[in-house]
Amino acid sequence: MTEVSPNPVAERLKLGPRDGVTYPIIVNYCGNCSMPIEYCEYYPEYEKCKAWLEKNLPTEFERVKLEEETGDGNDDDKRRQKRGGKGLMKIKKKEEVNKRITVSRAPRGKKKSVTVVTGLSTFDIDLKVASKFFGSKFACGSSVTGEDEIVIQGDVKDDLFDVIPEKWPDVDADYIEDLGDQKR
Ligand SMILES: [Zn+2]
Repeated sequence: MTEVSPNPVAERLKLGPRDGVTYPIIVNYCGNCSMPIEYCEYYPEYEKCKAWLEKNLPTEFERVKLEEETGDGNDDDKRRQKRGGKGLMKIKKKEEVNKRITVSRAPRGKKKSVTVVTGLSTFDIDLKVASKFFGSKFACGSSVTGEDEIVIQGDVKDDLFDVIPEKWPDVDADYIEDLGDQKR
């Protein structure tokens, strides 16, 4: 009878916590450079920023200090991953093993969505041609946004499973993977 119902806000936040983000999100602005404190390290007077932080936001200062102390190792990891990633991509292209197209929906503004298509070039489809085709097919904006990525200004994800194989018979619908909704 005395059971307390959980805080509804806290429950909702539990559904989608992102790694490394502490909820609720509070942006702390630096009193020295007036930027959000995450950006202080790019400010030339970072030492002054840190002094301000130490005085005014001691807990944040401790966190920054901790990140700096462990930072070097992380940077090395990142560099290594980048190198590794590039190497892997080259191998994939040579062997042409990963013929796979992905489609996903990403939010755009509060109510609209865009559709992200990747992997078309694994079927030797010209991205510019494809982007133009999507644009006229769906009567909306469409542009090449990456090495193998097209963003269509509208939620047309489900239609693509019919439209792509219709336009490019080499591509069976089975090659198209639905990644669902992206969080950005
Ligand atoms: Zn600062």
